[in-house]
Amino acid sequence: MSYTFEPIGLIRSPFKEKFGIPRQSSLAPSARAELVLLPPFDQPDMVRGLDAFSHVWIQFVFHETAARGWTPLVRPPRLGGNAKVGVLASRSTHRPNPIGLSLVELAGIDYDQGVRLLLVGADLLDGTPVLDVKPYIPFVEARPEANSGFVDGPPPQLTVAWSSAAETALDERKRLKPDFRQLVDEVLAQDPRPAYQDDPERVYGVRLFDVDVRFRVDGDRVEVLGIHDADTN
Ligand code: SAM
Repeated sequence: MSYTFEPIGLIRSPFKEKFGIPRQSSLAPSARAELVLLPPFDQPDMVRGLDAFSHVWIQFVFHETAARGWTPLVRPPRLGGNAKVGVLASRSTHRPNPIGLSLVELAGIDYDQGVRLLLVGADLLDGTPVLDVKPYIPFVEARPEANSGFVDGPPPQLTVAWSSAAETALDERKRLKPDFRQLVDEVLAQDPRPAYQDDPERVYGVRLFDVDVRFRVDGDRVEVLGIHDADTN
């Protein structure tokens, strides 16, 4: 038995590569994304009434990692990257069916060219194929009393400091929207490094929009070393 699904849309987001994407939606509230509906689904009728909802579930394909297949056991970053749990006890991308589920804020719907859903707090790679959208219904789905296993609250946040070189480079790039700095702070505060790496000298790079952000982490402090135009070729 197998089923074939067709994407109804594609995500446009600041996240051009996997590294640095928040590990869950809403962890970087400044991460704005768009869901662009594809033909024949790009008709206003498809979303009639949706703008009355503040949040939506997005079901999508982990397209970037799908070819790697699945494993029964995974190492969640929240357990330090050492302990294993069943893949079905995790939000890992390495699932039998590589389907993700994210709850995001719906900031608006744009009808200028086709249909675009304006999303806030996304954890989605640019180009992600979307299978479905459903309105979030709090009285059914919000369960503050629920047990959440090894995920016992938001992850610890690092403090983010900008070097003067990074400040200057940001000032020089007038094209970047005013909330770019906030997005960098939110992304880096999540500590994008793999759980097993802790080298204060190591310089990392995260790509946001068309910019590479260089940083390093020492203890609970991130230093933004510089920002550079990304090589988009
Ligand atoms: N909220 C979703 C869920 O629970 O199904 C995603 C959780 S998953 C742990 C989040 C990670 O998925 C991100 O940090 C990013 O690295 C990865 N990711 C996002 N979009 C992806 C895509 N299209 N293909 C592969 N990996 C993706």
